[in-house]
Amino acid sequence: MRRGTRSGCFCFVAVHSTARGPSLGGCRMWHYEDSRAAMRDALRLSRAMTYKSAVAGLPLGGGKGVIMLPAPQVDTRLRRAALRDFGDTVDQLGGAYITAEDVGTSAKDMEVIAQQTSYVTGLSRRRGGSGDPSPWTALGVDASIRASLERKLGSESPKGRTIVVTGLGHVGLALAKLLAKAGAKLVVADIDRSKRVFAEQLGARWVTPAKALTVPADVLAPCALGGVLDHESVPKLQVPVVAGAANNQLADDPIADLLAERGILWAPDFVANAGGIINISVELERGGYDPARARVKVNGIGDTMREIFELAHHDADTPFSAAVALASRRVAQAE
Ligand code: NAD
Repeated sequence: MRRGTRSGCFCFVAVHSTARGPSLGGCRMWHYEDSRAAMRDALRLSRAMTYKSAVAGLPLGGGKGVIMLPAPQVDTRLRRAALRDFGDTVDQLGGAYITAEDVGTSAKDMEVIAQQTSYVTGLSRRRGGSGDPSPWTALGVDASIRASLERKLGSESPKGRTIVVTGLGHVGLALAKLLAKAGAKLVVADIDRSKRVFAEQLGARWVTPAKALTVPADVLAPCALGGVLDHESVPKLQVPVVAGAANNQLADDPIADLLAERGILWAPDFVANAGGIINISVELERGGYDPARARVKVNGIGDTMREIFELAHHDADTPFSAAVALASRRVAQAE
């Protein structure tokens, strides 16, 4: 934790594990109530990154950065100063942590950070980086939906399946386009009503976010914020499969058991949404970034998901517990 000399903003880097390689995780730029809340966020998110990269089989550990803004909106000058301060903090760790974009930061921001340190990924394609991770995250979720459909309903094709995508943001919209192309019947929702225009373009049915959680369908794909699966929503779900991009979908861990009790197959979020980090990891490989290699690796999420479903079935466990156990095993082996 450092206080930036240019901006006065607190910069946090949490390095949860370097057992499998340098810790990699995005830089979140956010306004928090106090520095303890910012620190907690960095710590919590860094652990999730260790699991995500370990399950994806990447030679990376888990880390996370947080820039604590003094107000929800700040001017460009302060923003740039804070990004450069954060770059100094990252550089001081000498490669134990590599940063990337996250909520509140963009590929352009990574260029500002890169003025202070070389331990940065997610630069634009123009700068030799891997660019926007969202289409890759969507590709990985698509592979997860296919693996889940195969496991639960016997065939992986989304053709003719009713799929609900809630949250038509960077990932949700890209996912909906992939699914529409594959012949799925789409139902879409977003709290932002201006997104309704995409429903028309996709030939999808538009519903409210509340309705999206109770529509009878084959798959629910949560692609908005976390905590969507809780004691209130899960009993009302009318789908055999939940597989989406949103981070931290479970309001708390025991919700995984509730889903299993209802016979709903849940594709663990940190496995399904690893496409972005897998794409970024290709930047660190010898020879540099190559989108063709990234595509093969991101599609591999389907096989990882199949392996997790198989492990869960074998141990009479939930996919969530199987995924956490797999990640822990891989980290322990590397320690
Ligand atoms: P985004 O901000 O571009 O899109 C989120 C969308 O959800 C917005 O359109 C917003 O209006 C909508 N939304 C917010 N609350 C909603 C609600 N209650 N009901 C319905 N819609 C709601 O974000 P994104 O980059 O598309 O990411 C979506 C989710 O996927 C997030 O949870 C993110 O953490 C996770 N994720 C994203 C990536 C990535 O590559 N972008 C990678 C891993 C995980």
